[in-house]
Amino acid sequence: MKRPFSPLILVHGGAGKRRMTRMQADCLAEALAAGHEVLRRDGAALMAVESSIQLLEASGLFNAGRGANRQLDGVQRMDASIMDGADLRAGAVASVEGILHPIAAAKLVLEKTDHVLLVGPSAGRFARHFNVLRYRSSQKRVRMDYTALLNRRRTRSGHGTVGAVALDRSGTISAGASTGGIDTMLPGRVGDTPLIGCGVYADNRSAAVSMTGLGEGIIRLAIAKSVCDRLRMGTGPEKAAKALLHELVTRVGGRAGMLVVSPSGQFALVHVTPYMAAGWWNGTNRPTVKAVWP
Ligand code: ASP
Repeated sequence: MKRPFSPLILVHGGAGKRRMTRMQADCLAEALAAGHEVLRRDGAALMAVESSIQLLEASGLFNAGRGANRQLDGVQRMDASIMDGADLRAGAVASVEGILHPIAAAKLVLEKTDHVLLVGPSAGRFARHFNVLRYRSSQKRVRMDYTALLNRRRTRSGHGTVGAVALDRSGTISAGASTGGIDTMLPGRVGDTPLIGCGVYADNRSAAVSMTGLGEGIIRLAIAKSVCDRLRMGTGPEKAAKALLHELVTRVGGRAGMLVVSPSGQFALVHVTPYMAAGWWNGTNRPTVKAVWP
């Protein structure tokens, strides 16, 4: 009889220059517990990833869901994606407004449609059709003057994007992420998070990866899929993650962090930013949550 796999979950709350707060650390530990509970009950990795991320989106402590950043016109537009390593099904939403759980909308795209990515107000309407919780913050639209905006714009990495990867008892891995984008961004800007292969990727033949950091560099190197390709060729998770982050720094001047898990349960949390709020749990002792990883 095939031995069941030991469930494992990893979560992150963004990578950047700021150290996480105590409240964020506690919330990440809660998210690990919520995700692991799904796995413990023989739930799918996809479900575990969604429930961990939903908890982080609802907390208001991270740049996702309730706590999402605003674009330069004063509006919160959010991105999320999720992928199942068993059959490569993926779902994503980009530039979506007014919902609390973009990750749930992304999972509905995966489950209910033949598409991968829905964007803008139509993605919001799709989510509301399936009763994804609405969320309206009091936001004042700022009048747009592109000359002023382009002068003001300094692309800086956001803080507090959230993500998760998980391995379930059947040996399936999954990855997801949810964000309000970066600190300063033009209206309509979309980062790596909803782009499959860039911010998120999962394939039972290689690995599941969830990225955080300045999305523009991550997109240019299609990092999530590139890390998976290296694992497929036999490289270990930490070595593959470090190699791609080295390329990110040296080739496009980017900064990022990532979670990686393989179907055999090998994993890595790696960043080239001063801090990365992240943790992992396999159900024994307590969840491990730290701000600095190898
Ligand atoms: N990757 C996200 C984006 O570029 C931001 C982040 O992870 O901090 O939208």
